[in-house]
Amino acid sequence: LVEASYNRIHEVDDQVHAFLTLDEENARQKAKELDNGSDTTAKLFGIPVGIKDNIVTKGLRTTCGSQFLRNFNDPLYDATVVEKLNAEKVVTVGKLNMDEFAMGSSNENSSYTPTRNPWNTDYVPGGSSGGSAAAVASGQVLFSLGSDTGGSIRQPAAFCGVVGLKPTYGLVSRFGLVAFASSLDQIGPLTRTVEDNARVLEVIAGHDKMDSTSANVEVPTYTEALTGDVNGLKIAVPKEYLAEGVNPEVREAVMEALKVYESLGATWEEVSLPHSKYAVSTYYLLASSEASANLARFDGVRYGVRSENADNMVDMFKKSRSEGFGEEVKRRIMLGTFALSSGYYDAYYKKAQKVRTLIKNDFEKIFEEYDVVIGPTTPTPAFKVGEKINDPLTMYANDILTIPVNLAGVPGISVPCGLSEAGLPIGLQIIGKHFDESTVFRAAHAFE
Ligand code: GLN
Repeated sequence: LVEASYNRIHEVDDQVHAFLTLDEENARQKAKELDNGSDTTAKLFGIPVGIKDNIVTKGLRTTCGSQFLRNFNDPLYDATVVEKLNAEKVVTVGKLNMDEFAMGSSNENSSYTPTRNPWNTDYVPGGSSGGSAAAVASGQVLFSLGSDTGGSIRQPAAFCGVVGLKPTYGLVSRFGLVAFASSLDQIGPLTRTVEDNARVLEVIAGHDKMDSTSANVEVPTYTEALTGDVNGLKIAVPKEYLAEGVNPEVREAVMEALKVYESLGATWEEVSLPHSKYAVSTYYLLASSEASANLARFDGVRYGVRSENADNMVDMFKKSRSEGFGEEVKRRIMLGTFALSSGYYDAYYKKAQKVRTLIKNDFEKIFEEYDVVIGPTTPTPAFKVGEKINDPLTMYANDILTIPVNLAGVPGISVPCGLSEAGLPIGLQIIGKHFDESTVFRAAHAFE
């Protein structure tokens, strides 16, 4: 499998650009050791995996898609998720491309080279986990890990026609995930099938004392939920998720999916998430505020390539950050610093926190009556490389259907539900109650 993975990488990745770093020698060595070992009972024995490049891997370069970290060649430890995968005997083949510090929706903010959509390389793969989605879609690895702060697993999964899950906030440890917006970030699996996704989540979920936001909950055997039975399932379809601005092809694919559910004995009703119209502005305020604090550690001393053009210490901090960060990252840091500054904090940051609670309450109210919420993952299929990159607000607006899920902390999955006329995948989003990944998987699997 590991050989097949590298063969495929060498065959297609000079067009797809999913990988930033390969670890061929170590991976082959590990595969050989696994071949010679006797214990083949591990849950992910010998499975080749790619890891998003903001998840630290001991001794393996971790750049976060940023030139600032281009020489972070030797992280000292493995993220908890990587430790857990290793305990079940995966083989990490390399690190996957992403928008710089996970800020973006198209992978065009990678400060290396943008990943392309394997279905049509004129199109973006989505972001920020674009490398993670493209690598799975093009058969380079059997699964990958991504991170999702405002849609970065689900949106690229939708654009590339794979399955991507953002787990409930707190279900998967963030220890070793380079923080973007700590109150929103979650790691999750990208796979070809729902069953694979459930298998991987079973391995990476669970309490971790190294992450203070890690929930102390029992991890169910998710694969047991894959019964194919959704008879009686109560589905809520928010009218805001099929409103104007959602491409007709996407709307049609979702309506077709709802018919499939009806034929399987599920029922659906239209509901409203009235505060979702504020989600994009709320998210970009909160995420940027948290990012401005989290990214303070990249100063050319603790982390990051140090500027060689500085005369004194303050100058060194300034120049290192000016030279190291890309444009979008700087935009977020400035926005976040502004929103947190005295005099503006109450008007922006505090207000956004209050709106976040209203968005969460919208979901809770719906989940008193329904089992899952279903809608599209994205308003449109993948867009063309270059189409939105000079217009940050249009790019941000593309996240409108994924962001509310992060703000509410609930789980959401994207599963393929058809192709557009241009031959690009469309994603169906299934959202569940806190820690009810089992129902999300059950619903996704029955449809698949
Ligand atoms: N596109 C969103 C952003 O740029 C989401 C990113 C993410 O989920 N990491 O912030």
